[in-house]
This record gives sequence, C-alpha cells and structure tokens, in this order.
Amino acid sequence: MANKEQQSNGSGETKHFRIPEIKFTKLFINGEFVDAIKGRTFDTVDPRTGEVTAIIAEGDMEDVDVAVQAARTAFDHGQWPRMSGFQRGKIMHKFADLIEQNTEELAALDCIDAGKLFMRGKLADIPGGARLLRYYAGAADKIHGEVLKSTRSLHAYTLREPIGVVGHIIPWNFPTSMFFMKVAPALAAGCTMIVKPAEQTPLSALFYAHLAKQAGVPDGVLNVVTGFGNTAGAAISKHMDIDMVSFTGSTEVGRLIMQAAALSNLKTVSLELGGKSPLIIFDDADVDKAAELALNGVVYNKGEVCVSSSRVYVQDGIYDEFEKKLVEKAKAWKLGDPFDPSTLQGPQVDKRQFEKILSYIDIGMKEGATLLTGGKPWGSKGYYVEPTVFVDVKEDMQIVRDEIFGPVMSLMKFKTIDEAIERANNSKYGLAAGIVTKDLNVANRVSRSIRAGIIWVNCYFEFDIDFPYGGYKMSGFGRDLGLNALHKSRDSLTRDKTKWAFDEITAVDDNL
Ligand code: NAD
Repeated sequence: MANKEQQSNGSGETKHFRIPEIKFTKLFINGEFVDAIKGRTFDTVDPRTGEVTAIIAEGDMEDVDVAVQAARTAFDHGQWPRMSGFQRGKIMHKFADLIEQNTEELAALDCIDAGKLFMRGKLADIPGGARLLRYYAGAADKIHGEVLKSTRSLHAYTLREPIGVVGHIIPWNFPTSMFFMKVAPALAAGCTMIVKPAEQTPLSALFYAHLAKQAGVPDGVLNVVTGFGNTAGAAISKHMDIDMVSFTGSTEVGRLIMQAAALSNLKTVSLELGGKSPLIIFDDADVDKAAELALNGVVYNKGEVCVSSSRVYVQDGIYDEFEKKLVEKAKAWKLGDPFDPSTLQGPQVDKRQFEKILSYIDIGMKEGATLLTGGKPWGSKGYYVEPTVFVDVKEDMQIVRDEIFGPVMSLMKFKTIDEAIERANNSKYGLAAGIVTKDLNVANRVSRSIRAGIIWVNCYFEFDIDFPYGGYKMSGFGRDLGLNALHKSRDSLTRDKTKWAFDEITAVDDNL
C-alpha cells in the first residue's frame, strides 16, 4: 500500500528514502504465506499520520493450531533439531547476510509501523538483529551436557536437548530486536517455533519469515502468526502442544500467560515484563552529563522502553542545578518525522498509547504534581508527545507507581543513601536501575541493595548480546540474551536429559 517518496530534511541535508512497498501481509505457516482461515484482516497504521499502511491477516486459535502442527512435525520428524549445531549455524549466518542486504527496507518498515527513528533502525536495530543471529549461530555447536560419575560403578551423562516447540509472544516497542532476542537462540538450540508479533507492528516479522525461508530454514521451523493478543496470543499460551512460551510484554498479560500455561500443559514460561526503573544521581556527579543521561533515559524510543528511567532521584546538593539543566535539554529535544536524520524523537506507536500517556499526564496534574516542562501533544498530526517532567511528586502517586511507557519523568529529591535505596526499591517492579556517582563504595552498596535484574553504573541503556537481561519481582523471570537464554538459566530453551548406566548389567542396586 505504501510506496511513496519520503522527503527528509535534517541538518540542512535533504535525503530521499523510498518507503517500501509492503510485500508480506499474510500469516507464514509451514513455509508459505497464507490467509487466515476465517479470512479476517486488521489494519496497521502509520503513527506519523494515523493513516492505514497495510491490511494484515488476522490469525486466531485455528491458525495457531495449524502453525503448531507444522512446528510439532518439524520438531518431531524434521531435520532442524537433528542436524548438527554447526549446520544450523551456517543457515543462521545466511539469514543474517540477507538481513544485512535489506537493512534500509527493514528499518523503514519498523519506522512506519512503530514510529521508530529510521537511522537508528538502519544503524542499530536491524544490524543488531543480524548480530543476534550470528552470536547464537556461533553458540549452536557448543551446547553440551556433562558426564557424571558416582562413587559406585554407576555413571550418567546429560544430554542438553532443545525444549521443543516454542511460542514467542512479543511487544511492539522494538519489533526487530524483540524478534531476534527470541528467535535467534531458539533456532540455535534446535527448537521450532511460532512467533506472534504485536498487532501494532507485524510488518518486519513477516519480512523476516520470508528471509528465513530464503536462507534455508526448513518449512515449519519458524512460523509467524499475526493477530491479536486475546485470540492468537491466548491460543499460544494455552496450547497443549507448545512446550514453552517466551513472552515479553506487560505484567498484566504475563500473569494471564502464566495462568494459561498452568491450566493447560504446564509449559515452561519465561516472562520479561514491565518496569518503573529508578535512576539515582548523587551529589558528586557531573551535573550536565547526569541531566543528559536522565533525559535520554526517559525519552529514548519515545519512552516506550521497559527499562526507561521514569523515576529520577537527585541528591539535594545538586538538585536545583540539575533541574535547570534538565529543563534546558528537554526544551531543546527535537521531535519530528522519524525519517529525518536530525529527529531525536518520533511519534508514539499508536493512538491508544498516545491517549494513555496524555491521560497519565492529566492524572499527574490532578494528583497535585507540578509540570516542570512538556505535557502536551506535539505537531498537527500523528501521535507525538513532548518530553515531560513532573516535580512535587509523591511516592504514592499513580504517575510514580505505574508504568506509563511514554516520555514522562517523575523527578524527586533525596538526602541520604539509605533513603535513595529505600525509595528506589519502593516499586512492584524490579527490571533496571541506574546509579550516577564517582564514589565506588556508594556504587557498590547501592547496586547490591537494589532489587532489579539490571544495574547501570554511570551509564544507562547499555546492552550487550553476551550479557543476560531480565527482571526481579513483577518484572518477570527468565533471562534473554547471552548464553543464559540458550542453556545457562532454568527457563532456557534447552534442558537436560539424564541417561543412567552401570558398568555391568545390574538388576537391583544393592549399594543403596
Ligand atoms: P502487551 O502485554 O499488551 O502485549 C505484548 C504481546 O502480548 C503482544 O503481542 C500482544 O498481542 C500479546 N497479548 C496481549 N494480550 C494477550 C493475552 N491475553 N494472551 C497472550 N498474549 C497477549 O504489551 P505491549 O503493550 O505490547 O508492550 C508494552 C509492555 O511490554 C510494557 O509493559 C513493557 O514494559 C513491556 N516490555 C518489557 C520488556 C522486557 O524486556 N522486560 C521489553 C519490552 C517491553
């Protein structure tokens, strides 16, 4: 549907990007693009304008069932789990090559689906997807068990096996990164899978399915069912023939998924959920750099980030100077068309999210918080929200407790380390936290005391494929990234099978 010249005017330079023709709009099941069984469709909308960009097949329970049958057959009888890890790795490298050959088109798809910055997609998200494939391709032939020897003549060996058919349910905020954080380790492990992208952002996932087939991923191994959460997503979480659900999304839906898993076949569940992450800035910080870090922490990807630093605590000695710098920087922050290379912040993903953020801003004001800057929609069309900072906030206000998932910060003052730790931990979430200080003792003490899965010291939003990623408390459990996703965590994509043997035939173990 979309195939227009996009003129982008940034930094005095005019550049033309061709918004790609949308080639893939159907479900991808058993190596083919197919219509939904009921023939239903839904629209995907460009958040820059609110216009429909494509009409997408709407899969539901019956389509999930067909996709699971394909994945089950590919797992139980196909080559993928049986071929050598090295061979799987070769195919994954080919898949990564194809992504690298289509980087601009893929970045444009995520841009018109999610409002993500085109240049960031081109330079980070899309190459990052290829890197995830290459990282796990290298690990695919290094998944081993161990040999165990008892003091008796008994010994055993463990075989590290793929867990089986996996359902990946992913959110809309990082359509490419989320897709490959889930799919790359699962392919390496030898699993087969069904991916359900978020209904707001189906476009790149369908393109990736096409590239996987071109790379040689056998039919049935990677299936993509587009559709809604309460139909297609729910069908995955309660399916009796899915062995694991790997979910990233909200805490509310994570709870539903865990319930459905418990009430169906007790499938393994890995949950990467919401957050309300604190950033604590101590008196010895470089105020200018700290203000930059804090602003970035809340406006990066328009605040649609699970680890967004939406609660910022600043020690009283530098608070006034920090507040001044933060406002200057927020006012200078450039919103605009995400295709423009000089734009720092594009539109929120859709109308619903836009309205949700504005309603939280309204709640904040009604609760008695003061708007320091921002608080309004931006521009004449599309779903843009200004970088927004609230002060005079109290710990029990909804804007401090709830995950807003937008560019909205609650800025607070503190006096002592103990107070900072206590207030940072005063949340049902425990995904990430940041600490800014030059004092190593303070950094050590605070990082050990905060109950969160990710602690950034003098930085924020740093990631590495090799570093495990996941939460504490109601931010979920299970770890994505690193070898943890593959075989080092309890909720990983592989599990041990133990084979027992005696040195001789033994009818009864008389050593007990
Ligand atoms: P969401 O929970 O509404 O949706 C996520 C996915 O779940 C979508 O694919 C959706 O269709 C599906 N879904 C919805 N209802 C379902 C149901 N009843 N059964 C099964 N699947 C269902 O979340 P969202 O709005 O897409 O994403 C935002 C949330 O995701 C935020 O809370 C954010 O913090 C979280 N998130 C977490 C991480 C992390 O790594 N911890 C990363 C990104 C986003």
